[in-house]
Amino acid sequence: MSSKHIKLKTELPGPKSRALMEKRKKYVPRGLGQYTNIVVAKARGAILEDVDGNHLLDFASGVAVANVGHCAEKVVKAVQRQAARAMHTNFNIAPYERAVELAGRLASLTPGSFTKRALLVNSGAEAVENTVKISRASTKRPSILCFEHAFHGRTYMSMTLTHRANPFKMGYSPFCTDVHRAPYPYVYRWPGNKDSDVVADECFQFFSDIAARTSPGQIAAVIIEPMLGEGGFVPAPKKFLQKLQAFCRKHGIVFAVDEIQTGFGRTGTLFACEQLGLEPDIMILSKGIGGGMPIGAVVGRAKVMDAAGEDGIECGSYGGNAVSSAAALATLDLFKSGSLVKNARKIGKTLEPRFAAWKEKYKFIGDVRGMGSMQAMEFVKDRRSKEPDPEKVNKLLDYCYERGLIVISAGTYNNVVRLLTPLVTEPDQLEEGLEIMESGLQAIA
Ligand code: PLP
Repeated sequence: MSSKHIKLKTELPGPKSRALMEKRKKYVPRGLGQYTNIVVAKARGAILEDVDGNHLLDFASGVAVANVGHCAEKVVKAVQRQAARAMHTNFNIAPYERAVELAGRLASLTPGSFTKRALLVNSGAEAVENTVKISRASTKRPSILCFEHAFHGRTYMSMTLTHRANPFKMGYSPFCTDVHRAPYPYVYRWPGNKDSDVVADECFQFFSDIAARTSPGQIAAVIIEPMLGEGGFVPAPKKFLQKLQAFCRKHGIVFAVDEIQTGFGRTGTLFACEQLGLEPDIMILSKGIGGGMPIGAVVGRAKVMDAAGEDGIECGSYGGNAVSSAAALATLDLFKSGSLVKNARKIGKTLEPRFAAWKEKYKFIGDVRGMGSMQAMEFVKDRRSKEPDPEKVNKLLDYCYERGLIVISAGTYNNVVRLLTPLVTEPDQLEEGLEIMESGLQAIA
């Protein structure tokens, strides 16, 4: 096995990481999840360097954030430049040049030829919250429709929209009201082993029934991920999404697509909506937009976005932050040449046949799927019952981590291995990681 990029000087964790992790245990609430026990000193491209000098290969990108790679030079320079010019005045007092420019860029880059506005916020969850506020204000309707297996964040409304209770919602009830949930077209787990076309039709029928019971005239917004992120990289059939969009148009419902995880090149186009033929009324964005800096955005139809009256949407102290906006503009510049989305497709083309071959070989891999560079494998105890096998996923993740490769899981049942490599991952880095995964699969088989 080659190890050109991974360099382990100590066992993981090394002594410095171990000492800092002890401190973390003492001062940080235990509810914060923890995939690894190293502490990062530096990060570049697809490589993390920990405080003990170990170099690890990162196939998680900080959960789909470092699409342009860690510390991309242009982003770092933009951040430094902006930090030296102006950091904070508050957008509502005196907006920043870079933030206004960014709003314009997002309005023109997102799908839909209609006039748009962009609200800049600080995180994905905040973008989701504002989507709900704006949708209710613009339609003057109360109800929100969301989907099974969805993940939309950890604030109260976004957590209400999130489906999986354990661990995301445990102990936090009561949740927000007037949120209704429809099935997601999860083809692999749809009863009866049906093909995606049939699942799209049947699932849409369920959705229509739920919408009818809720009453379409009462529904402010339908919020959906075009491919589940935390829910296990499950792409919704194009046909289903298009029917959903048509239904929303017909009934004056805001069609809001959460591209927080799928956005900014991950799926092989800047936004997944482009390849799905969708023009949502609202695009909910975050993660990859900032190249590592915290920022989120709600980008939507001007008519919808302007519905909350003057001073109605206050974007908070930090919304449209100058430094984050500068980072986002630099990130968008990096996408201009098209090479990053091309690389996302190339990564996908390497992963797809590899995962398919592993599925042939290992009976515990029940399904492989994804879009572009977002590819996943779902582990099951046996293929007939499809009983989830999260233990094997954890074994594989541990195997990889011990050898310096960071891979993370997903899925309502925690039984999905997902790859979120930075889009700048070089072919030999990808190969190095895949070789480790392959020997890990052999070891746990
Ligand atoms: N929506 C989706 C699809 C996500 O994947 C996430 C985060 O994982 C969120 C919303 C919440 O974003 P944040 O963690 O920035 O609040």
